[in-house]
Amino acid sequence: MTQLNEAARLKILSDLVAIPSVNGSEQLVAEYLENLLAQYGIESEVVQFSEKRANLVAEIGSGRPVLGISGHLDVVSPGDAKAWLSGDPFTLTEKDGRLYGRGSEDMKSGLAAMAIALIEIKAAKTLKQGTLRFLATVGEEVGEPGAEQLQAQGYFEDVDALIIGEPTGYNIVYAHKGPVNITLTSHGEAAHSSTPEAGYNALNPLFVVLNQANTFFDNLQVENETLGKVIFNPTVFHGGDQVNTIPGLATAEVNVRTIPEFDNHAVVQALQTIIDQENAKGADITLDVTMNLAPVAGAKDSRLVDLATTIGQDYSTQQIDATAKSYGTDASKFLIDKADGFPVIIFGPGNDTAHKVNEYVDKQMYFDFVDLYQRLFSTYLNEAKVPSVSKAKAKP
Ligand SMILES: [Zn+2]
Repeated sequence: MTQLNEAARLKILSDLVAIPSVNGSEQLVAEYLENLLAQYGIESEVVQFSEKRANLVAEIGSGRPVLGISGHLDVVSPGDAKAWLSGDPFTLTEKDGRLYGRGSEDMKSGLAAMAIALIEIKAAKTLKQGTLRFLATVGEEVGEPGAEQLQAQGYFEDVDALIIGEPTGYNIVYAHKGPVNITLTSHGEAAHSSTPEAGYNALNPLFVVLNQANTFFDNLQVENETLGKVIFNPTVFHGGDQVNTIPGLATAEVNVRTIPEFDNHAVVQALQTIIDQENAKGADITLDVTMNLAPVAGAKDSRLVDLATTIGQDYSTQQIDATAKSYGTDASKFLIDKADGFPVIIFGPGNDTAHKVNEYVDKQMYFDFVDLYQRLFSTYLNEAKVPSVSKAKAKP
């Protein structure tokens, strides 16, 4: 017998979407989930991040193994509100079997499905061993500080496998590259362009650095079997303010997507080496890493991928694939201390409308994931070989 019928499941999603948790105001969502779970006898811990911002951790079961299930509480801004079907991006609106609203797909439907799965598994007593730990985070859309905080405070230490409910539809993602943003600042000295020797042109050495970096990454032979090569792109360039003035300052931003074989640290080092050569010739270029998320290299051949594929196939008419992607998730922060090949998948209701106006989730897919998650979570834990208890930790 289910605890929550379809109307109740829809109400939860609709309530979650109605909280406009644009990055920086996630606490109300954490408290909503805390109250919801409490109604079904599940205690949770609201882990404060800062004013108006809080993560949530809740679990059922006990001991090893521990399956982490995770989603983020924040959404991106709705853009032009008037362009939305309903005229209000925070009112979940049903049309032709689709549920429209900011966060409906990315990822309040995944969050809701995970919370409901916790409730239903507990009520049905289907969990025979292990712990199912729900980790809901702030700030996934901007730097993932929530996952970083939960990891740093030990909530992930004893986790043996991880499912992130970001929107993939019925496809499974088991690895992704590590996004890194870097700002390069070139300090020169302004002068009249008729006497350039009286100053130092900040643009010129920055051109050289970007040019050499492009060549370096184009020729980099390192490759990950699953993720492919490092992607390197200069994306922003600013410098100078007047045509007859030698520019005293220039900045460039680059976006890099890394692989474990040539990771974030290696990228920064390679750039720094190129910069050092220019600085030795008189330039003054500094490097700042403004976003730093590690690549995630889960294993394609894992019991988690196999089980998710088998169970997911019951709901999908398409053949389910396990793939690697270039985007990032909270897994970058959670898995910082875990070895490559850690069982991790990204698997949640969705399509390709995340971050867009008129984002939606297919209603049936949302309901399917509520059921699918219950089967996947409990089966994964029930059929697991219990790992040695030596590394077990009583947390949270
Ligand atoms: Zn997301």
